[in-house]
Amino acid sequence: MKAVLQDRSTEELAQIVRDVGEKPFRAKQLSEGLLHGRRISELPVPPALRGALLAEYEDEPVRIEKVFTAKDGTQKFLFALADGNLVEGVLMKYKYGNTQCVSTQVGCRMGCKFCASTLGGLVRNLTAGEILGQILAVNRLAGGGLKDRRAVTNVVLMGSGEPFDNYDNVVRFLRNVTDGAGFGMSARNISLSTCGLADRMRQFAHEGIPLNLTVSLHAVTDEERARTMPVANAYSIREILDACAYYFEQTGRRYIFEYSLIAGENADLAHAEALAALLRGRPCHVNLIRLNEVKERTLRAADEQNAQAFLKALTDRGISATLRRSMGADIGGACGQLRASYLKEQK
Ligand code: SAH
Repeated sequence: MKAVLQDRSTEELAQIVRDVGEKPFRAKQLSEGLLHGRRISELPVPPALRGALLAEYEDEPVRIEKVFTAKDGTQKFLFALADGNLVEGVLMKYKYGNTQCVSTQVGCRMGCKFCASTLGGLVRNLTAGEILGQILAVNRLAGGGLKDRRAVTNVVLMGSGEPFDNYDNVVRFLRNVTDGAGFGMSARNISLSTCGLADRMRQFAHEGIPLNLTVSLHAVTDEERARTMPVANAYSIREILDACAYYFEQTGRRYIFEYSLIAGENADLAHAEALAALLRGRPCHVNLIRLNEVKERTLRAADEQNAQAFLKALTDRGISATLRRSMGADIGGACGQLRASYLKEQK
């Protein structure tokens, strides 16, 4: 695979243009063309510059291979990478804007028992430009432009992969996507979800990127957590909560816990009480969601009534919490479902 031009910051793009002896204003044309989701071969720059770029960089590192549209308007995308690997993403449409869920790795090695992304293990990390490329491709398809004309207004790093297992590329992506001279998305419109790699959470507190940090908790004791999340053997809930507290100390930003309700596993009233006790007094919010059932997995979702009772038990105890609607269920909205079924179809 050639290099990925969309990995580059605006300063680096300017340097590339200088290096081939083109005038500085070409850098802006180059950068804006890329940000509009154009291929290198479509860029409005002199042929010599295009040729020099094509010799070294992938013409189209992220291509939309398939689009599925759900009844609720949610769109699911299958993206093909230059080496033939596939990743998926989702665009969810809300009143306040459109939120795109992006992948950070091909597959995942965290092994969560409820998740489809991890079924085949980790294949490889995505580069910064392959993460950004998912957004640029969808923004272009949706007819969006730059600045206030963006069709993608919010981004969540909640697709396939563990963002903090691909730390350097993810941080580079975050710097580029929030660069005012680049795509210019506010970090406050970005959420990063981690399964709780506590060391990386502490490191991230010093990056100066004020996004919304989200942590997948899904259990109230280390023993129960280890049943569905092998990463619990590496980091205890205590270490994760300490890293969250550190993050708040350093950044002043509240954090969010994800808690997917699984029948007979983590959704009893006793779990809600224990969760409330664990989180009492912490500057956090809890996002509950009923498990999105994955064909290849045996775990089942807690029912709606159970979910409502769990939510009430938390809020009655003073914990800020919401029960999220599960969107796009009719098109395999959960992480990794689409790629998993597509790969199977091809075999
Ligand atoms: N690796 C990151 C981001 C992945 S997915 C993380 O672990 O946080 C985003 C969220 O979806 C995580 O909270 C993850 O645990 C959750 N998730 C994965 N599969 C799910 C499923 N089938 N149903 C409900 N939530 C799921």
